[in-house]
Amino acid sequence: MFDLFNLSTNSFSYPFTKQHFILYKQVTSQYDDPDILQYVNLLVPEKIKKDIKIELKKTNTSKGANLDKYNNSNSSTNHSICNDLADDRGDDDTYNTKEDLSYSSSTISLPISFLDSLKELLIWFKKDFMRWVDKNPSCDNCGRQLALEYIPGDTWEIRGIENYYCSFCSAVFSFPRYGKIKEIADNRIGRCSEWTFLFGAILNSVSIKTRIVHDFLDHCWNESFIGGRWIHIDSTLTYPISFDHCSYYEKNWNKKYIFVLAFSKSNLEDVTASYTMKWNQVLNRRSELKQTQLDKFQKFYQKI
Ligand SMILES: [Zn+2]
Repeated sequence: MFDLFNLSTNSFSYPFTKQHFILYKQVTSQYDDPDILQYVNLLVPEKIKKDIKIELKKTNTSKGANLDKYNNSNSSTNHSICNDLADDRGDDDTYNTKEDLSYSSSTISLPISFLDSLKELLIWFKKDFMRWVDKNPSCDNCGRQLALEYIPGDTWEIRGIENYYCSFCSAVFSFPRYGKIKEIADNRIGRCSEWTFLFGAILNSVSIKTRIVHDFLDHCWNESFIGGRWIHIDSTLTYPISFDHCSYYEKNWNKKYIFVLAFSKSNLEDVTASYTMKWNQVLNRRSELKQTQLDKFQKFYQKI
């Protein structure tokens, strides 16, 4: 176990702080913990688990229905681009500079029944299980704006506590920013990070290998390894946008990426190219940063 308190706060320039890397390392390490996976697995309705299990079994046992056949056979890397990017990229000449991506994958599709089982899970999680916490929440009782008192935390386990008070009806609402999966699962509230941490654990608990992606702007989501490639999954969005819609953020939220990084327990990977149709612009933004930054990130991440 490394010593958290020996690490200074901002050894990487903002927003790439050591805390982020430690947090993602610790959260994704929990994705390997059988006790935690069992804990979150019990929360998922039996029918949904059963449907996913049947679909996964099909892909493993039936040669005809093997998901691998949906994989892009030309791809030398596990990292393929998403359907929506592949569809759009045909006319995008700014993209030609990026050669290491295979984008003959525009026909990638997964069996409908498999998508249905994931859709069930996404809808249950968003509609029935989790509750979103607004940045400026209003009072549940009287609808008035709540006042925030922020108590900073000093570990990945509790990054901070947001306490909200209603000056009119005296209601109090506390929102601890947990890094521990079980606590997030018990609390059932959060913003994109809590949703992503927990949903990633749930996916891993149903045998779908899943990691965490952060855009280092203001959002994070998951990627799951399905059919031989990493697929974008964002439990905070509404299906079908929540599944395999990599270009959604850039198109709709005008994201200006520098680094989009994917975190698993053992590695961090630069996945920016999967989420942009404006690769040259990304490179222009990057040129202002130290060239060695990504290497530095990776070395640090391996070490902690
Ligand atoms: Zn109130």
